[in-house]
Amino acid sequence: MTTTERRISKPWSRLGETLLYAFGQIRTVKKAYPGITHLLIFWGVLIQLIGTAIKIMQMGLFVPFTWPLFSDKVYFGYELIMDLAGAAILVGVLMALIRRLFIRPDYMENTWDDYYALVLLALIPLVGFFTEGLRIFIRKPDWASWAPIGNWTAGLLQNTSLTAAQASIIHPYIFILHVGLGLLIVASIPFTKMRHMIFTPIHIFFKTSRGKGELESIDDIMNAEELGATAINEFSSLNLLAFDACLQCGRCEEVCPASISGLNYSPRTLLLMLRETMAESLLFPQEGSDSNLTPDLLKEEYLWSCTTCGHCLDVCPAFIRPPEQVIDIRRAQVLMTGDVPTTVGETLRNFERQGNPWGMPSQDRMSWSEGLNIRVLNPGDEVDVLYYVGCAGSFDDRNKRVTRAFIDVLNKLGVDYGVLGEAEMCCGETARRMGNEYLFQVAAEENIALFSEYTFKTLVTLCPHGLNTFRNEYPRYGGSFKVLHASEFLAEKLQEMNIKIPGEANYGKLTFHDSCYLGRYHDVYAQPRQVLTQLDLKPLEMKASRENSFCCGGGGGAMWLETAADTRINHNRLNHALELEVDTITTACPYCLIMFDDALRSKGLTESIQVLDLVEILNTSIQYITGSIIDPVIYLTSWISS
Ligand code: SF4
Ligand code: SF4
Repeated sequence: MTTTERRISKPWSRLGETLLYAFGQIRTVKKAYPGITHLLIFWGVLIQLIGTAIKIMQMGLFVPFTWPLFSDKVYFGYELIMDLAGAAILVGVLMALIRRLFIRPDYMENTWDDYYALVLLALIPLVGFFTEGLRIFIRKPDWASWAPIGNWTAGLLQNTSLTAAQASIIHPYIFILHVGLGLLIVASIPFTKMRHMIFTPIHIFFKTSRGKGELESIDDIMNAEELGATAINEFSSLNLLAFDACLQCGRCEEVCPASISGLNYSPRTLLLMLRETMAESLLFPQEGSDSNLTPDLLKEEYLWSCTTCGHCLDVCPAFIRPPEQVIDIRRAQVLMTGDVPTTVGETLRNFERQGNPWGMPSQDRMSWSEGLNIRVLNPGDEVDVLYYVGCAGSFDDRNKRVTRAFIDVLNKLGVDYGVLGEAEMCCGETARRMGNEYLFQVAAEENIALFSEYTFKTLVTLCPHGLNTFRNEYPRYGGSFKVLHASEFLAEKLQEMNIKIPGEANYGKLTFHDSCYLGRYHDVYAQPRQVLTQLDLKPLEMKASRENSFCCGGGGGAMWLETAADTRINHNRLNHALELEVDTITTACPYCLIMFDDALRSKGLTESIQVLDLVEILNTSIQYITGSIIDPVIYLTSWISS
């Protein structure tokens, strides 16, 4: 991939993060049982390694590299710490075995090297304790009580018929076995999953500093030789490092909406297949092996199931970004081979012909505004709020009603706003997530040039995908401006105006669905709930909400794909709402609205449950404003005109 990203900037902060996440295991322990298991093994092994290195220095094996002899007190402490570290490894291994053999989470794969590593990890401290027990049994040293497990083992030996002389004979052999097991585990690291002990900290150190909502750019795209990845050696070296850094822990698969919904896709197996391809063609090449991606990786389920919801990014302890690898392959498919699903091809052709995924002409961009008195800006105009309507809000019939509602709200709140009218263009998000980086970059440059013709304080949009594109992706192309999602803008505005709006309409039991691109990518969780609270509405929380929200299934271009009815992500998400027996589902994203609408229709539930955008609810409730500081003239005029 042609990119200028340098991953050695701010080395001290990188080192700090590596210490925090690789050594502190901050992300790993978020999941209590496997986290504590890993923590015990990791720190146990690390302490044992450091302790062994110190001991070797003491033994004068590598003169002149020696270490001053321990004082008695220090040595007692050393023995205690080494004993506790060995015990930690044993407890960790036992917990890991219980999880693998009895708890058996669905996403967990058991392979030979998992058991190989666990058995070796258990044998080393077990043999170590036996060696220590023999030593204490033979010499009865002063520090014996400071090595409680070794001392306990010596006590056990005491109760056998073994004599000190016999123990002295077998001790060197057991010691050599202990050292041999240690060397075996070190030698096994490159050939087993234990390689992550080395590669995960390195990957964390070199991880991208791009925000999680920003995809890697293809620099100088017109002259770039590689557009995405059709072969394993076309991934960047840091991507290849990620394949080795993957622990295969399955945390990504456990939260992936595509995997949960039964699609034949998992970010964990994606990484596994990429690693295997890398091993076969680059690390241990054999005659006939090539670096081209395997057909399994190129099949539709693998390339097009990911909705780029970002949940895997948040949970991966190695900071790997599986959707970026997916998009690398999509780029090659879209820009090089053209081998894409029919609906993807149609959507991208719509974009090429009409400049938007809906394939609608720009003259139709204002069709939603019929009968409304809207200020369409002219180049050079100045305004507080530039309202970017977006493609869904302009062309999708259901979302056009939301756009109209937002205009009502802006009028009622007396906001100085304007829209771009037919001059507005698609932000390019769908094209980029579908892999057409070229269309995206053209859209970014054109939009940045367009926005620069107007003077505005804030760009406001109802679409979290547009928000992410403007806020996280345009700055790289020279477009930096203040961008707010409508829910952020409204929460701020309502608070600033200090108004309390009693919700008059009856929404029954209501829940709020967190859009991935609003919540997970921008941490906007409180603001939509704050708006609902100001309407005296108390949203019920679905079992997957806020940071743990479950994707609606519409992101990453997935809204345009056909999926079998029994594997639809939106049906799964609707089930979460149905569990609460709600009457109203609130969204704050045009894609989520479409996906819920579709799921309700498919399940024949449109009569019993309504799905509404946040601004539709606000617009209805705002009719009942009392005692507000809203300019009554503006309010009445806009209310009458609406
Ligand atoms: S990508 Fe990350 S979360 Fe997924 S299996 Fe690999 S290490 Fe675990
Ligand atoms: S971004 Fe979401 S859909 Fe894509 S792999 Fe990660 S969890 Fe799965």
